[in-house]
Amino acid sequence: MTIQTSVKTILAELPPSTRLLAAVKDRTPEEITLALGAGLTILGENYVQEAEAHINALGRVAEWHFIGHLQKNKVKKAVRLFDMIETVDSLELAAEISKRSIEIGKVMPVLIEVNIGREPNKSGALPETAPTLARNIAQLPGVSLRGLMTIEPASGNPENARPYFRELKVLFDAVIALGLNIPDFNILSMGMTHTYLIAVQEGATIVRVGTAIFGARPQ
Ligand SMILES: *Cc1c(COP(=O)(O)O)cnc(C)c1O
Repeated sequence: MTIQTSVKTILAELPPSTRLLAAVKDRTPEEITLALGAGLTILGENYVQEAEAHINALGRVAEWHFIGHLQKNKVKKAVRLFDMIETVDSLELAAEISKRSIEIGKVMPVLIEVNIGREPNKSGALPETAPTLARNIAQLPGVSLRGLMTIEPASGNPENARPYFRELKVLFDAVIALGLNIPDFNILSMGMTHTYLIAVQEGATIVRVGTAIFGARPQ
């Protein structure tokens, strides 16, 4: 399938309440342009440097979301480049984002990344810490907490992702039940190439897809 056909096919599978983010790591501006032509509205970047090159080449043609691991020393640049940072997993990182956003007169939309599989080598906040983290992040003036994100444990069987997505949704509802007065807390970013249809069934409002749009990544 061509890039454009893939995007159109996936968009047709999604309910109106779910948005498609194209994960563009290691893709060229030409490939991204093809995907945009088919109706994509969110691009996801794992690397600040690569995002800068892409945005310089393409302009602000879509919403740019950061979906990689954000180092503190890249925050200053990231808040200028991105429309959302999906991978906030500590109060320290959130505070730095808030500070740097205020410096440029911006309020940065963020998601809390949850390590839903409690995998030792993965970033993301542990599920049990997420409500307190949400409470604290909600106090920061330079960020707007919009929801939760997760990268589920890898598995050969997409069905294995379902319990993790359910758990994230339960956590999402638990944060809402805290009554933190964060009115725009309404984004659940979960599901990738092999799991996005299951994520949609479990309440995803953003699915993040790379391989199913662009093919296998270049080695
Ligand atoms: C690469 C990536 C994706 C997309 O992965 P695919 O399996 O290629 O669809 C989604 N989310 C994050 C955070 C990624 O790094």
